[in-house]
Amino acid sequence: MSLGLLIISVDYLTIYGPVRSWRLGYSLGVDPLLPPKTCTFDCVYCQLGSTRRKVDGPEDVKNYVDPQTIRKELASALKKLKQESIDYVTLSGVGEPTLYPKLKELVTNLREEVGDLKIAILTNSSLMWRNEVREALSLLDLVVAKLDAVDEETFQAINRPSPRLRISMIIDGLRRFKEEWGSDKLALQVMLIKDVNNSAEYLMKLSEIICELSPKEVQLNTVLRPPAEKWVKPLELHEMQEAASLIREYSSSNVITAYQPRQVKGELKVSVVEELELKVIDLTRRRPCRISEIASILGLRLEEAESIVKGLVADGSIVEEAYGETIFYKAKV
Ligand code: SF4
Repeated sequence: MSLGLLIISVDYLTIYGPVRSWRLGYSLGVDPLLPPKTCTFDCVYCQLGSTRRKVDGPEDVKNYVDPQTIRKELASALKKLKQESIDYVTLSGVGEPTLYPKLKELVTNLREEVGDLKIAILTNSSLMWRNEVREALSLLDLVVAKLDAVDEETFQAINRPSPRLRISMIIDGLRRFKEEWGSDKLALQVMLIKDVNNSAEYLMKLSEIICELSPKEVQLNTVLRPPAEKWVKPLELHEMQEAASLIREYSSSNVITAYQPRQVKGELKVSVVEELELKVIDLTRRRPCRISEIASILGLRLEEAESIVKGLVADGSIVEEAYGETIFYKAKV
């Protein structure tokens, strides 16, 4: 979605943003692997499409940028930005960042470069069973670890992992991270897919593991961007709210959802736009709407609604559909 205000230009190979992330506020991205996407998973909801390079571990990765170059790029990018306006420097990007073959060296370099800024990673958790990966992650301020499934069948159906990976290895890796480094720097990200992992029964099983891991935060997401597989459907707003309540109740965790993003530093206006974009997507998912309806339902002036809708059409989140003389907008999911 067009949630990011691009301040850093495309001059860098490995630095992007800052982007407004619903879970991390303003985040300056570090993407250490080069395209195309290299991942241990091939998630059915991946917004990057199917995984062309599905690998088992860092040993299989040959195409990456060396840590010193990444550090230099980050130093240059940070000079162009007001550091107070960034919430996190975040390792993520086109694929799974823990696949980076020199992860500890990279994290150490970034740590030296960012000063007081916090560093996070968005990981799919698939390599946290490895000692060296957990050790490198322990040097970060926040590890946002994916956990979409708690049983093998659902794990295979959603994440389509490389052949050697099992859900038991992933949950064990998360448990060990908590035992070794505590849960203060651990957050869990859960992608909920309609009729796949959002039944009350499944959410309770998920909550048991969440309760055991006692993360600092649970970030509930759903499919708000075009997924790799067309059959994948998002939860509606009320379903997300119900899922969040259930997980809160059964795991006693702090839960945030993609529909209720975190307050970010900087202008209030920006987070309002982000919320409005999500509301337009939610609204047009239920039924195609005219621009006048969108404006009226969300209490916007016509030109404000047009501006938001135009951005969402441009980034492919919603599409225009003519019916007779009238243009309707509908979410592309
Ligand atoms: S783990 Fe992330 S990058 Fe990898 S396939 Fe899943 S969503 Fe895409």
